[in-house]
Amino acid sequence: ASHSNENSDSPFKVPTIKFTKLFINGEFVDAVSGKTFETIDPRTGEVITRVAEGDKEDVDLAVKAARRAFDEGPWPRMSGAARGSIMLKYADLINEHIEDLAALDALDAGKLFNWGKAVDIPNVANLLRYYAGAADKIHGEVLKMSRELHGYTLREPIGVVGNIIPWNFPSTMFFMMSAPALAAGCTMIVKPAEQTPLSALFYADLAKQAGLPDGVINVVTGYGPTAGAAIASHMDVDKVCFTGSTEVGRKIMQAAATSNLKQISLELGGKSPLLIFDDADVDKAADLALLGILYNKGEICVASSRVFVQEGIFDEFEKKLKEKAKDWVVGDPFDPRSRLGPQVDKRQFDKILSYIEHGKREGASLLTGGKPAGNKGYFIEPTVFTDVKENMKIATDEIFGPVMSLMKFKTIDEAITKANNTKYGLAAGIVTKNIDIANTVSRSIRAGTIWINCYFAFDCDCSYGGYKMSGFGRHLGLEALHKFLQVKSIVTPIYNSPW
Ligand code: ADP
Repeated sequence: ASHSNENSDSPFKVPTIKFTKLFINGEFVDAVSGKTFETIDPRTGEVITRVAEGDKEDVDLAVKAARRAFDEGPWPRMSGAARGSIMLKYADLINEHIEDLAALDALDAGKLFNWGKAVDIPNVANLLRYYAGAADKIHGEVLKMSRELHGYTLREPIGVVGNIIPWNFPSTMFFMMSAPALAAGCTMIVKPAEQTPLSALFYADLAKQAGLPDGVINVVTGYGPTAGAAIASHMDVDKVCFTGSTEVGRKIMQAAATSNLKQISLELGGKSPLLIFDDADVDKAADLALLGILYNKGEICVASSRVFVQEGIFDEFEKKLKEKAKDWVVGDPFDPRSRLGPQVDKRQFDKILSYIEHGKREGASLLTGGKPAGNKGYFIEPTVFTDVKENMKIATDEIFGPVMSLMKFKTIDEAITKANNTKYGLAAGIVTKNIDIANTVSRSIRAGTIWINCYFAFDCDCSYGGYKMSGFGRHLGLEALHKFLQVKSIVTPIYNSPW
């Protein structure tokens, strides 16, 4: 299967698709049912290619392979250093294919090609390197027991892991979940989102080239309610990591509870506040606010979708925002001039537009945007609503698109109350030069990450994840490594104590 420029008017070179089958036990195979599904180019709505549609039977085969690789294979038994060196090789191979991988995500998810090349894909390699470096530093503790006992702990890999990946960061999320699991010595079944299966299959091929033993990483492409649900309810999967909607997170938790009580970690929705105080540099604050909602076309769970500005600078801020929004050019993700590509699919496109209509009906005013951009594909203009009331749907629901709700506040206390007035708690931003405000507000907001005078300041070493209904468990940092390990205590009497 291949895709060329023939069925689109894009002047940009798009990649040839090499891998479209499931990857199980080190081999590319068709789905047991023989079924395939379409993956769509969001620039045009046209079919890119067909990909194997994995379902329960395929998940069973992938779990068997992962189980065998865990129970009998070398991966969890080899030294951490040996696992680390295979992971470093994997990172190098990814680095050699940065362009191919960035192009696959641009084509499949509408992500900016240049950004993928400069940031997303190099960072994937860095993630592998970070956890490769941790693989030989996993150890337990010697315990200070209160009796004549010698006690120590081991940190052992949790086993077979299911990683259910969202479509907004197909590459980053693949490795945010899989790199720490690999370092820990786990084996896994990765299910990419049905909208964006292509890069995951490319990573499967590179895993084999890097020397990962068969069965350590299996990739099952397919739909959520079939393949995804089969992973969540599988009796032989020890842990499921899920990143996606709150609604599906709830289903994963139910499936885990009614099957084998597998551990889960959930990274779910957000409605993150950005609080801008009177002393802020208005120009920089406006740039940050636009970045916070428009980066990756708003398809990012930590997007700053609620922007609260203190009354002293509100009018000036609003004016700047309107001016600067024009710099966010919507266009083909392969075009270096574009800053916003298309939304991932028709469903998201329709959902975002219906929120915009809802905002208008509820009485919010459009400062800018509010319409589709262009007449084909799933492009939407950068959209800012002002005159927003806190209880409007656009201010409470996660829209997952380039739609900002701009609101005003007077005092610090009011800012904190408003920031916390959400069921979510993924991230928050604060813009101020006043250290007292920064300290007070950052400690008062119930969210997993607080960015002061920056936004999206991610780093391998800095974990993030949810408070409240944004989920539990952390991505990145050593926190993420520990979620793939479990503690075993070993105790033995010392001296010939009368036990
Ligand atoms: P969105 O609603 O934003 O598309 P989802 O939360 O539905 O995001 O999707 C995230 C991932 O979860 C995808 O890989 C999807 O296939 C998967 N998924 C969807 N429904 C289920 C389900 N019932 N069980 C397991 N996985 C699912």
